[in-house]
Amino acid sequence: MADSLVPIIDPQASPKPGSLAFAFAGSRMVAVRSEGVLRVPEYGHLSELLGDPPDAVYLGRLGDRDCFALSIPEGADLGTDLVVAGLRELYSVLPEHLMAAAGRAFQTLEWYHGHAYCGRCGTPTELSGTEMARSCPTCGALHFPRVTPAVIMLVEREGEVLLARNRRFAGPFYSVLAGFVEPGETLEQAVAREVGEEAGIEIGDVRYFGSQSWPFPSQLMIGFFARHSAGEVKVDGSELIEASWFRPEQVAAGEIQLPGPFSIARRLIDHWLQRSSIDSRRGFV
Ligand SMILES: [Zn+2]
Repeated sequence: MADSLVPIIDPQASPKPGSLAFAFAGSRMVAVRSEGVLRVPEYGHLSELLGDPPDAVYLGRLGDRDCFALSIPEGADLGTDLVVAGLRELYSVLPEHLMAAAGRAFQTLEWYHGHAYCGRCGTPTELSGTEMARSCPTCGALHFPRVTPAVIMLVEREGEVLLARNRRFAGPFYSVLAGFVEPGETLEQAVAREVGEEAGIEIGDVRYFGSQSWPFPSQLMIGFFARHSAGEVKVDGSELIEASWFRPEQVAAGEIQLPGPFSIARRLIDHWLQRSSIDSRRGFV
């Protein structure tokens, strides 16, 4: 398995031509297309085209290479072998360890540029030499990268799964429910509240499944299974436009379009399908 990014804090580090450059034009990342494969470009490749972009933020090491996050102007001329693509598009084509590094790079830039000035007193901030923070030399406030927790849950009822169409989704695209955690809530309370608000039902038996960093722009998706306990499905009409119970064979047969395989939403659904087929072979459903 390929090496994962090893994060290192070093505000003095500066990029060399062979360093890997996770470069973003707005929210789109620069990649090299060579022989039909997308790769992360070297810093030297970018600086030849664009000069030395300001503010290359050191991320750490990936194998034997230093990695930097940097912003480039939107619409910059990138020649013929560089492309810019949305992180979501890249999630399905780049290997997992590079995507994790790209997600971290994007969120690092969000933090770096978003806290250039102290949010409390307006003074320009300085990079901490010991932690991933920008500190204010006037009031002492520390500004860390913000990660926003969101719960995502697969609700089941007697062998069926609740899947919903979101207003933002085009076409027959169904997924599990999800929503942001509110201040003061436990994760379990957030799961119950979101399912209640969006689908009008009560749930119980909330079980942790796994989590996924979701850099759109800075979420941590925390996945759960939950079981319907009372009520009939009634969508809220604002976020969800349709929600129904589906049997495993309907989901497996491709009657509906599911989230991409890189997402925790899909991993929840695939895990449920796998468990359903084991249960049916045992005669449980
Ligand atoms: Zn301050």
